[in-house]
Amino acid sequence: MKSKIAIYSDNAATTKLDPLALEAMLPFLRENFANPSSQHSAGKTARRAVESAREQIAASIGAKPEEIIFTSSGTESNNWAIKCVARALSATRKHLVTSSIEHHAVLNSFKSLRTNGYSITQLPVSRYGLVSVTDFEMAITPETTFASIMFASNEIGTIQDISALAAVAHKKGLLFHTDAVQAVGHIPLDVDNLQVDMLSASAHKFNGPKGIGFLFKRSGTPLGSFIDGGGQENGQRAGTENVAGIVGMAVALKNNLQNITDNMQHLNHLTDLIVSKISNAIPEAVFNGHASKRLPGLVSVSFENLSGESLLHLLDLKGVLVSSGAACNSKKTVISHVLKAIKLPRQYATGTLRISLSKDNTDSDVNIIAETIADLYRKQVKIKK
Ligand code: PLP
Repeated sequence: MKSKIAIYSDNAATTKLDPLALEAMLPFLRENFANPSSQHSAGKTARRAVESAREQIAASIGAKPEEIIFTSSGTESNNWAIKCVARALSATRKHLVTSSIEHHAVLNSFKSLRTNGYSITQLPVSRYGLVSVTDFEMAITPETTFASIMFASNEIGTIQDISALAAVAHKKGLLFHTDAVQAVGHIPLDVDNLQVDMLSASAHKFNGPKGIGFLFKRSGTPLGSFIDGGGQENGQRAGTENVAGIVGMAVALKNNLQNITDNMQHLNHLTDLIVSKISNAIPEAVFNGHASKRLPGLVSVSFENLSGESLLHLLDLKGVLVSSGAACNSKKTVISHVLKAIKLPRQYATGTLRISLSKDNTDSDVNIIAETIADLYRKQVKIKK
């Protein structure tokens, strides 16, 4: 069955696979299927592909190849960084710091540490989703060993001042991790400028395949192994490597970075366009996230007393694919922790849509998205009256 996606604007959830990445992957799913740990020539071909992908990915974020460890996802990278570093650092200093707007892969990793006797400070954020560097410094105690603050929000797009936060962490003797899953491949970043000790990334967020990601771990950072088994990834992460995934991830990242300035310019233009179109049509719409410190192309918008989830489904019927900021289960509407953390009033939070555009979206897409939202909004408001 051939399904056609009309206007895909849910790129913070996942992105379209880069055709060149797919092309690079196919030989490793077909004829070059050997295990990269095998000693024969076919195994060596697979090994060379894995190591050259590692070199290229490392160079693209200013890291050394040995500082890149392949994982199955952003979720695994976050779990690993948080759980294993916290355990490796200290048996006695058990205080950790994070923010209240992290992805669940981070929040729930900390939650599991809490049940193991760690105390966790979850920093509040401003109305625009920013963590205060001063609040961060004040939260650090002599017991604190480690902090993890996300690079950019997957829900409202706000970008944190990671280099300032990492500098404070180091001044106070902590290790610092950032979940950069929404940033890698979309905005230029360099682990040395940022001064982070660990950074998580996921290929499917930057036009790579699903089920593959990486963790940057600065040399010397203590990190126990998360998955025990064979000696893959320098004995740090066991399991036969996902060769095709790794190769596809490297190609997708390279292609995104080659055009990053143009992509960012295009997406910032589309963001301005959609914000102005929606604001003109619906002056009472409220936009979430920081006005300038934000991911290109991610727009979170709220409408008072409407159901974002219903709007999502109505938009879907019209061929416009987006996300909402609240989900209904049989008993109640569950509002995202991020919208709660920015103190968006409930009557707006329930009516939130996340539109996340990609480099492939056009002005015409944005006009259609804005007009369809405005049209549905008017109809919904009329039904309510
Ligand atoms: N961190 C952030 C900020 C994300 O947006 C996501 C995915 O939505 C993840 C982590 C998890 O990544 P993955 O889907 O590769 O597990």
